[in-house]
Amino acid sequence: MNRKYFIASVLGFIALCLVPVFTHNPYYIHLVETIMIYAILLFGLDIVVGYTGQVSLGHAGLFGIGAYTAGVLFLKVGAPFWVILPASIVVTGIFGAILALPALRVSGPYLAMVTMAFGTIIQILINEMTFLTEGPMGLKIPKPTVAGYKFTEESFYWVVCVMLALSLLVVHRVLRSQLGRAFEALRGSPVASDCMGVSVYRYKVYAFVISAGFAGLAGCLYAYSEQYISPNTYNNELTVMFLLAIIMGGRKTRLGAMLGATIIVLLPKLLDDLEAFRMVASGLAVLMLVGAVIGIARHRTTWQTMFVPVVGTAALTAFSFWLDNITDWRLSIFGLMILFVVYYLQDGIVGFARSLMGKTANSDNVIDLTAGQNQQGALVRATENGDGDLLVANQVLMQFGGLKAINQVDLKIKRGTIHGLIGPNGSGKSTMMNVLTGIYVPTAGDIAFAGRSVVGRTSSDIALSGIARTFQNVQLFGEMTALQNVQVGLHHTFKSNFLDVALHTPRYSKEEQAATERGMSLLHFVGLAQLANEEARNLPYGKQRLLEIARALALDPQLLLLDEPAAGLTAPDIKELVQIIRKIRDHGITVILIEHHMDVVMSICDTVSVLDFGQKIAEGQPAEVQANEKVIEAYLGGTAT
Ligand code: ADP
Ligand code: MG
Repeated sequence: MNRKYFIASVLGFIALCLVPVFTHNPYYIHLVETIMIYAILLFGLDIVVGYTGQVSLGHAGLFGIGAYTAGVLFLKVGAPFWVILPASIVVTGIFGAILALPALRVSGPYLAMVTMAFGTIIQILINEMTFLTEGPMGLKIPKPTVAGYKFTEESFYWVVCVMLALSLLVVHRVLRSQLGRAFEALRGSPVASDCMGVSVYRYKVYAFVISAGFAGLAGCLYAYSEQYISPNTYNNELTVMFLLAIIMGGRKTRLGAMLGATIIVLLPKLLDDLEAFRMVASGLAVLMLVGAVIGIARHRTTWQTMFVPVVGTAALTAFSFWLDNITDWRLSIFGLMILFVVYYLQDGIVGFARSLMGKTANSDNVIDLTAGQNQQGALVRATENGDGDLLVANQVLMQFGGLKAINQVDLKIKRGTIHGLIGPNGSGKSTMMNVLTGIYVPTAGDIAFAGRSVVGRTSSDIALSGIARTFQNVQLFGEMTALQNVQVGLHHTFKSNFLDVALHTPRYSKEEQAATERGMSLLHFVGLAQLANEEARNLPYGKQRLLEIARALALDPQLLLLDEPAAGLTAPDIKELVQIIRKIRDHGITVILIEHHMDVVMSICDTVSVLDFGQKIAEGQPAEVQANEKVIEAYLGGTAT
């Protein structure tokens, strides 16, 4: 967190803590308390929704589990508060792992359905397991007592304040760490995550578990805050509200989560009170107008895009003064506002404000560009050099339905060489790479890498054993900075776990520092150091390809697979690329190069294999292959036109 944000957070926290000093009205205190409790849950939900990009409609269920764990432990076991609080987190975390299981198989609308079913089942279970939960009767829980002190409405408010601050700190640290980068990588490109050694499987579960932990904490605090819990609270409407809060506040921001929580708590109240509604609508209209004027003055937006939001909020204000009774209109106004936000503020309120100010979500991930400059020599760790074949593929067959994309191909890759793989479009080159990296399991045949079979192992396992790759269709983590992309590749260098990250132990700090330096030195290596803080999706195409190479090198691979790295590059860029590939080989890394630019292949490859319709039709030194009749006919002849 940079200083400005830090100071703002501390001031905000102090202001929150002072609420009970300024008002003794229990209604307001309780309202703010509820907002804070929801915010804790939303921090967690944002990990799943905003970072890993999964939809979860099961979080009201998790919230209920947290609340009922607290209720049941108190009433049936008589456990003290300091046991109940962590127990709620742990129990809900376990349910989070269960909720993650469907996310491993389905995504999008299917996942939304399954997680919603999860929430419904939880609600039914709470209702039916009367021996534990008293069913629809609900449970009564008094404010906790710790060491003889019984918390009051006001003093419990401060407990929630402290929990909010702790949650904020933990979630902030987690998301800035290698764990947060792994979560975000899942959203950017699951395939690339796996091929960078970040197991999609493991980190999806991890994200759900951490997310559920926050839901459990929130649920527990909620039980003590309300002093009464019943199954009806944890319904599908609440779960949709949570998701809406994330969308309206803006994903990937803690401020957004807090705004979202405020909106979902206050909006229903607001729509009960015409006076307040008029005030807020007017305020919103003014804010929108000022925002639009600033945005346009700074050339961040245009009149055309701002027209509807400005007129819309103004119309809402006019409407609010025209109304003399709000109750009939509640649902319609609510629906309209949601529609408006989802349509016009797709990055939520915070995202919208950021775009007007000309900031990106990564503004606080900026690092000093001079780091790692003097590390250039250390590109690779000592790999086992020596002669012999690093990779031996034997009679590989890859069948898609009736199509033999690879048909009985043998391949031997000598250590320390650049091995070209060429052939016309659709001849099976990319499929070969996908087979080598575990994305596809070959129908038949075997592949040994450094003496160990690759077949049947997961992509992340294969990646960690030393095969790195780039993709024909660039697969970067678009919303992450260039440096963060490379740092995802460096994920394997981290030994620190969740606790290290949350507590900022020396072990974690050291690893993070090392990852920044090494990441920067890899960016230097491909000539992108100056663009380290740029979001990957904003880089020019040629630079994106180089960034993919830097990220792949971060794995410390023995074998690097490049799938058409020169495609779409300009002539000077290709020259630079050739230099870089040579340098990589000189560092002892073996390279398999798929390429259509014949001059590139001829100038840097030591050996070339040619595929045609999935079969290997020639192999040898570049000059030999170029002269081969079959090759000319199949490939060179075809493209020479
Ligand atoms: P190249 O990279 O040499 O241009 P590919 O390896 O991408 O060719 O494709 C080889 C053949 O395999 C093509 O006919 C392609 O349509 C087919 N193919 C590749 N992946 C799949 C898949 N997942 N399902 C079905 N067919 C596929
Ligand atoms: Mg291809």
